[in-house]
Amino acid sequence: MNESAVVRARAEIDLAALRGNVRALRALAPGAALMAVVKADGYGHGMVPVARAALDAGATWLGTATPEEALALRAAGFGPDRARIMCWLWAPGGPWRDGIEADLDMSVSGVRALREVMAAARQAGRPARLQLKADTGLGRGGCQPADWPELVAEAMRAESEGLIRVTGLWSHLACADEPDHPSIQPQLGRFRDMVRYAEERGARPEVRHIANSPGTLTLPESHFNLVRPGIAMYGISPSPAIGTPADFGLRPVMTLKASLVLVKHVPGGHGVSYGHHYVTPGDTTLGLVPLGYGDGIPRHASGTGPVLVGGKWRTVAGRVAMDQFVVDLGGDEPPEGTQAVLFGPGEHGEPTAEDWAQAAGTIAYEIVTRIGARVPRVLLNERP
Ligand SMILES: *Cc1c(COP(=O)(O)O)cnc(C)c1O
Repeated sequence: MNESAVVRARAEIDLAALRGNVRALRALAPGAALMAVVKADGYGHGMVPVARAALDAGATWLGTATPEEALALRAAGFGPDRARIMCWLWAPGGPWRDGIEADLDMSVSGVRALREVMAAARQAGRPARLQLKADTGLGRGGCQPADWPELVAEAMRAESEGLIRVTGLWSHLACADEPDHPSIQPQLGRFRDMVRYAEERGARPEVRHIANSPGTLTLPESHFNLVRPGIAMYGISPSPAIGTPADFGLRPVMTLKASLVLVKHVPGGHGVSYGHHYVTPGDTTLGLVPLGYGDGIPRHASGTGPVLVGGKWRTVAGRVAMDQFVVDLGGDEPPEGTQAVLFGPGEHGEPTAEDWAQAAGTIAYEIVTRIGARVPRVLLNERP
């Protein structure tokens, strides 16, 4: 790591916290295997180190959205002896054959994609590991109940021809982050029905799964024999409505820090940053934080985002620019180079990603995932 790169700003990734979170999640779902969801560069934390730490803590599956992410994991040394890897977001003409050769668990939601898998398996000369995705109510990916008989029939035919192995039956929850949401039990009921239907027609899946983080944390009846937590593994609650991270024994993994690059006195009535949406209420000091929307700091946090500087919470003054934003230090004069902590576990008075989510009108998932490639990730506690 280039030292000058960490002077401006850095995202510290505490892999001991991540391992602790995986252990906490396993304890909550003792009858299920754990798939660590590491898509989108491990929700911005770094896909490869997160995958390694999750496996060290007992995860046996890795989950990604795209096949490119899954293939990158295999290329990084996570062989089939170390982890099953599943990916679920396939475009027509996707790298099915590469997926078969890399021993990925692939997923289809319909017959068109299944036929692409069958053709790729013929070319590869070996069966594909294939999971069938059911739309039990999310209304996004997945096979509608009305189309399930056709997909199952075609899959069982492909299995009998030796082109695929149906390794999993799975679905995704829509509203599990809202306690007692009326869609939850109907989704679970439909999932049980769709699994039973496929098994009655001969499917012998290794895994049946529907639980994301909120399901893993709050709905034991959603665990089946595999859970797929993402955000909880990064120590963030899926929603304040279901509790804080600490309520579930989770600790935030990412701390985002920057160095104040300039501290200066300005008179009252001075406009601050583009558009002058903040005007100093009196003589004061301003601190310049070298992070902006080019680094994933939400521009919607203009005027609202919290930052810990010198033991005090300060607020983004005026607009977040591409590379920098300003905080009003209220006359304090911390030396240039003082650390500004945007978010972290919250254990030392700093804001959390959830605080930034509320400031920007979004969810904490988006806050951590969008932290850009220009911010170096500094790994802490890499060894178990
Ligand atoms: C992202 C994702 C998950 C993980 O969701 P969290 O809410 O972060 O736990 C699980 N399953 C699928 C299909 C996903 O796309």
